[in-house]
Amino acid sequence: MAQESSPMAMRQVKTVADVDLSGKRVLVRVDFNVPIAEEKVTDDTRIRAALPTIEFLLNRSAKVILMSHLGRPNGQKNLKYTLRPVAQTLSSLLRRPVLFLDDCIGQKVLETIDELDEGSVVLLENLRFYGQEEANDAKFAAQLAKYGDAYVDDAFGTAHRAHASTVAVPKLLPIRVAGFLLAKELEFLGAKTSHPERPFVVVLGGAKVSDKIAVIDALLDRCDSMIIGGAMAYTFKLALGESVGKSLVEPDRVNDARRALQKAQEKNVKLLLPVDTLCSDGLNVEKRTIGATQIVDKDIPDGWEGVDIGPKTVRLFGKAIAAAKTILWNGPVGVFEIPESARGTYAIAKFVAESKAVSIVGGGDSISALNSSGYAKDITFISTGGGASLEFLEGKELPGVMALQVK
Ligand code: AMP
Repeated sequence: MAQESSPMAMRQVKTVADVDLSGKRVLVRVDFNVPIAEEKVTDDTRIRAALPTIEFLLNRSAKVILMSHLGRPNGQKNLKYTLRPVAQTLSSLLRRPVLFLDDCIGQKVLETIDELDEGSVVLLENLRFYGQEEANDAKFAAQLAKYGDAYVDDAFGTAHRAHASTVAVPKLLPIRVAGFLLAKELEFLGAKTSHPERPFVVVLGGAKVSDKIAVIDALLDRCDSMIIGGAMAYTFKLALGESVGKSLVEPDRVNDARRALQKAQEKNVKLLLPVDTLCSDGLNVEKRTIGATQIVDKDIPDGWEGVDIGPKTVRLFGKAIAAAKTILWNGPVGVFEIPESARGTYAIAKFVAESKAVSIVGGGDSISALNSSGYAKDITFISTGGGASLEFLEGKELPGVMALQVK
């Protein structure tokens, strides 16, 4: 089929809105991998993110069977990683009972599901209590598949993993569609960055070139300007022959940086690097201390390391962001854990939030900067993806998405 081989970003998967799920038993893979302390959910963002799909199914009188992983129990039943507290939070958000089952497979689970009324919500226990989940085991998947007449994937964060609940289960069910959250991730990270409104400005930060080089390479084919900040920028500075003092660099990635600079030139992409740098002589992230600081324009002196972009760079990056019609931002441009070296990252958050462009933000640190500065509400789309977002932007096929029906 022509569609099956279309590039990942172009793949138009069916969603819950494209199929008739009324009254059906719908097995939904969600990402309820949330932080829990003292048996209480401490951040319900991921649970809230799944509500539109769950509510849509309930409005159609479906029987909703939710499955997720939580943490890394390594294939063992370990109650430290139970999903029970999630059921309570979900129940109060939905304002209706959520039946928690203390296992995800077995006769008892099957019988309970067989007797469900329309409009019921069930949450299964942590899938990763069984090693077969991550092993994409066919027998384990067959047991899970028995609970559903249809499969919905709304867990973008695990779509890059071929696990039983993301790949083997959907293959066994006749209806296999995306939930609204997954569909939105695919729309924003796929279509909106493949056919962006231009200028398309990409802002990348973070610690390592090695983590982002594939994304840099893929996005250089699509964007008009690329801003590189964070420790990554110093490996690029090395490639340009500048001194970086004792900044965090990856000497074995200098060639990659050089190739990216060359590609940017060939593709006529403006690649912007910091023109000034806040340097420190005594950074200690764990102790949250920074020592003495100074701002330098170009070369970073011996004994000093770059910890944030300087004020001229803030203005330069701000101007590029203000001109954008589409913005993709992933990663902090400095050591944002320490207030003295967080200014650059907060300035980026403000520029992106104030822009009228389609803004797409991913990566835990960028999102946390947006949340703590109150700008999250001004962003068009915040990706929940992490590793999956980067792989998708790189143009890789995501096994969880490949398992779904196309339009
Ligand atoms: P990543 O996980 O690759 O997005 O990187 C995030 C981390 O990069 C954060 O913990 C930041 O503290 C770190 N980072 C950003 N800029 C710098 C820098 N100039 N020097 C050292 N670490 C940095």
